Amino acid sequence: MQSRRRFIALSAAAAAVTASPLHGMGEAVVAAMPKDERDKLTPAQVIDLMKAGNERFRKGLRVNRDFLREQRDRATGQFPAAVILSCIDSRAPAEIVMDLGIGDVFNARVAGNVANPDLLGSLEFACQVAGAKVVLVMGHTACGAIKGAIDGVQLGNLTGLLAKIAPSVQATAFTGTRSSSNPDFVDAVAATHVRLTLEAMRRDSAILRDLEAKGAIALVGAVYDIGTAAVTWLPAK
Ligand SMILES: [Zn+2]
Repeated sequence: MQSRRRFIALSAAAAAVTASPLHGMGEAVVAAMPKDERDKLTPAQVIDLMKAGNERFRKGLRVNRDFLREQRDRATGQFPAAVILSCIDSRAPAEIVMDLGIGDVFNARVAGNVANPDLLGSLEFACQVAGAKVVLVMGHTACGAIKGAIDGVQLGNLTGLLAKIAPSVQATAFTGTRSSSNPDFVDAVAATHVRLTLEAMRRDSAILRDLEAKGAIALVGAVYDIGTAAVTWLPAK
């Protein structure tokens, strides 16, 4: 509740609230967060906002957004608070499941939320140039790319993508059937893959590593459960 109030308070500062934001979630219209409000947030506060957004989503309590107003407000500039690397899975849209609006976050989506130099460059732009405070790698349950990596699927350009997930399959300690038909194993690999992707980011991006070391950004991981709609945040490194 604390973080929800903070979110609403910050949004209210944008002077786009047509009703008291603390009364009736369905009546207040929130606007995109302005740059000075975004800049004041710590990485931990940004994470709290995303957690609170997922709680709202799970309860069916989305804030009342005027997407056209957000679109107009953002037409001349963007000040996203976070950058997300997530999967293309149609059931795991990060902005929707964390109740975010236009301009709130960057979102890079690629099957299996794999990182490569192009994606690292995107994350570096988001943080170093555009001022995002959090890098979130968000995997999800029942991920088809994870299953494909477990099965060693070979298919066109997908082969190379799945090869980037294969080390996460091998690195997953698991007692039980290590099969793509075992949902628990698939989800365990997804969590491992998020963790190893974060490790690779710290290793391969001096920019992200340095920003994290000085506390300007946080690199965090989470797994979205397509069955329960819950985003489970992985422990910090
Ligand atoms: Zn997926």
